[in-house]
Amino acid sequence: MGKVLIIGAGGVGTVVVNKIAQNTDVFTEIMLASRTKSKCDLIAADVKKRFGVEIKTAQVDADNVPELVKLLNKFKPELLINVALPYQDLTIMDACLEAGVNYLDTANYEPKDEAHFEYSWQWAYKERFEKAGLTAILGCGFDPGVTSIYTAYAAKHHFDEIQYLDIVDCNAGDHHKAFATNFNPEINIREVTQRGKYWENGEWVETEPHQIHKPLIYPEIGPKESYVIYHEELESLVKNYPTIKRARFWMTFGQEYLTHLRVIQNIGMARIDEVEYNGQKIVPIQFLKAVLPNPGDLGQNYTGSTSIGCRIKGLKDGKEVTYYVYNNCSHEAAYKETGAQGVSYTTGVPAMIGAMMFFKGLWRKAGVYNVEEFNPDPFMEQLNMQGLPWHELHNVDLEL
Ligand code: NDP
Repeated sequence: MGKVLIIGAGGVGTVVVNKIAQNTDVFTEIMLASRTKSKCDLIAADVKKRFGVEIKTAQVDADNVPELVKLLNKFKPELLINVALPYQDLTIMDACLEAGVNYLDTANYEPKDEAHFEYSWQWAYKERFEKAGLTAILGCGFDPGVTSIYTAYAAKHHFDEIQYLDIVDCNAGDHHKAFATNFNPEINIREVTQRGKYWENGEWVETEPHQIHKPLIYPEIGPKESYVIYHEELESLVKNYPTIKRARFWMTFGQEYLTHLRVIQNIGMARIDEVEYNGQKIVPIQFLKAVLPNPGDLGQNYTGSTSIGCRIKGLKDGKEVTYYVYNNCSHEAAYKETGAQGVSYTTGVPAMIGAMMFFKGLWRKAGVYNVEEFNPDPFMEQLNMQGLPWHELHNVDLEL
């Protein structure tokens, strides 16, 4: 029943295709397309070897709407999974509207020349998707994605009113490199070097980058220094859960990582504007990406695990209660199953499950939606079956 096109053959695309190939009762025809077709062919050959499933491949420049439309009209998928870069979200949504294809992604739109991301650009497509009778599912990775679904699940089953939400993202893994990013370096460095921002009492509070930090204890990992950074799911969650008084996002960083990051910024290598070099225009952060380790190749020696969850405080039956729901994901196990490390795995598995929800008709309504606007229950059930089991703790000290 499910004819699906995946765009993007990076770490996340690798996991999406591997997981789709393990669910052929839902996904019946599969195509992987990207800018560099040889990468798609390598992934397809590997999936064929692992699971005996045939994946079609194609070359496409996702910045180019007519090229995308041509591919969509030729393959005629029912759903497109966008795991290219956030820069391509709008061109891909335009092409989907033109060709009558449903849409799912894992990261919100970001213009190339501005380190700034927000949902307004994609929310502006709501009416057009409604009129076309098409579904667009936004932010279906882990964070955003599972963290938003955890929040929806908590609101549905454990709270009458969510008041305090802290999303905690710990990577306690070791890739044994001096410095590397876990997903696309350009996107990652732009995200973690921006000013901090969180929601409190009906407004956004801005901080210096990494200004607020403290050690938080992660299950089966222990204490890790965690920093408040701005993360995109906060924007939709405070809108969809207006009782939230404070919403923050915490991410762990090691001292080595922060030192490298500071140097990269100080010497101008994080710049996103063009500079003249030997008569040629280059963007320093794009050059940096070319010399850093490829996140897709980190898997082989990656040890340790990630731990990502939601720590929530609010009211149930007039009483104050706390709730902590989380997943720990082993980099080694992720690599063994899909050939990719844990950060790609924790993003690709939810993208596949979101697509499954669509094809099963459980998450299908005309318009543009963030994942917390759908029923979380069948998604939570699949997380346990597809390699990202979750655990919950009630009335514990949230440390926050
Ligand atoms: P990678 O850089 O590893 O892969 C991106 C892929 O997209 C590459 O294959 C690249 O092609 C392709 N691509 C880039 N530009 C174009 C284009 N114009 N046309 C066609 N293909 C293109 O990134 P990741 O796999 O690590 O990340 C993929 C997405 O997942 C990103 O949007 C990222 O922000 C998101 N993400 C979301 C997370 C979440 O939890 N929600 C967590 C981590 C990532 P080429 O190889 O030729 O460069």
